[in-house]
Amino acid sequence: MNKQASTEEILGKLVSIPSITDRANEDVVAYIAHVAAPFARVRRLPNAAGDRTALLISVGPDERPGIVLSAHTDVVAVAGQPWTSDPFALDVREGRLYGRGTSDMKGFVACVLAALPAFAAAQPQTPVHVALSYDEEIGCKGAGDLVAAVAALPARPLVCIVGEPTGMKVKRAHKGKTGWRVTARGRTGHSALPHLAVNAVTALARLAAGLADLADDLKAGARDHAFDPPYATLHIGSIHGGGALNVVPDRAVMEFELRSIPGSDTPAVLRSIDAMLDGARAALKAQAPEADLMVEELSAYPALATAADAPEAAMVARLTGDNAPPGTIAFGTEAGLYAEAGIPTLVCGPGDIARAHKADEWVGRDELAACDAMLARLADLVRRPAADWITA
Ligand SMILES: [Zn+2]
Repeated sequence: MNKQASTEEILGKLVSIPSITDRANEDVVAYIAHVAAPFARVRRLPNAAGDRTALLISVGPDERPGIVLSAHTDVVAVAGQPWTSDPFALDVREGRLYGRGTSDMKGFVACVLAALPAFAAAQPQTPVHVALSYDEEIGCKGAGDLVAAVAALPARPLVCIVGEPTGMKVKRAHKGKTGWRVTARGRTGHSALPHLAVNAVTALARLAAGLADLADDLKAGARDHAFDPPYATLHIGSIHGGGALNVVPDRAVMEFELRSIPGSDTPAVLRSIDAMLDGARAALKAQAPEADLMVEELSAYPALATAADAPEAAMVARLTGDNAPPGTIAFGTEAGLYAEAGIPTLVCGPGDIARAHKADEWVGRDELAACDAMLARLADLVRRPAADWITA
């Protein structure tokens, strides 16, 4: 296929392929590879189980430092949401394109794929690498191998632009996040004889109280007023356990998360949390040999903290024409992973996170046009080595 598809045509096709998080993704990968292959080198990075594939799509010489355009191809499910139109059929109404993933973040993917012919025609001195992950919506689970592959390119990229929805504003920082699920196992028994049983709900209640105290400490600790709130937060999302008043519960489950601010001593906070978990486990085991505390890490991504005066931020601002100082975002992205790999990273893409994950998600035709224009400017710049146009 050498016909050059428009952004809207590609977005229509992408939306029609559901590509919901935590499912096999061969359909969306096959379509993207098909669109990209005439213009770019397509590298497939399958996971160990073989049911998910990330894509690294490159135009231009790997031996030169390039530009990474990063996105995830998975979308959140639509079950229970009151959609006006079919979420998996792009519906255009009054300049808005409705469909699951239009803002988060198939709109950006469509713009990037539609720009591949222009990147190829530019015969770039500065390569463009399109890095497409999976399972981002369940905690950046599908980006690890992809980020490693990008970092291991013969020349380390100079900048990464993560196209999450920011209304095409340049964003330089977000908090990091770690999520946990802990399961307490105790020993059941009659509520009249609690001394012979081990109460799993009580064990998690004590742990929850300790976490709440730590949350208070964090609130009084390090501050960065670029964020709202300006401190790290520790939040308990759920506790489930027990079924009847007259039975000692032998199982309880709690989920909680830490959102850390960049530059704060997150390892120390993580050590405090580990110490609390160890203490809760030891207290359970001391009461009965079968009692225990199981800990699962649900998701983890690092904070993003690109300097406000970084030359890469100014470069992306020039691409967008947005000359406001780069801001911060409240939501997490894969940007922290690229930054951790040593690649200066900014977040900038079409759409609005406030429209994401909900019924009637949409992206504006004007927003896609602004992203197309940014990529057209980039296609013009990559004719020359990046040293000529990324300057301090
Ligand atoms: Zn997203």
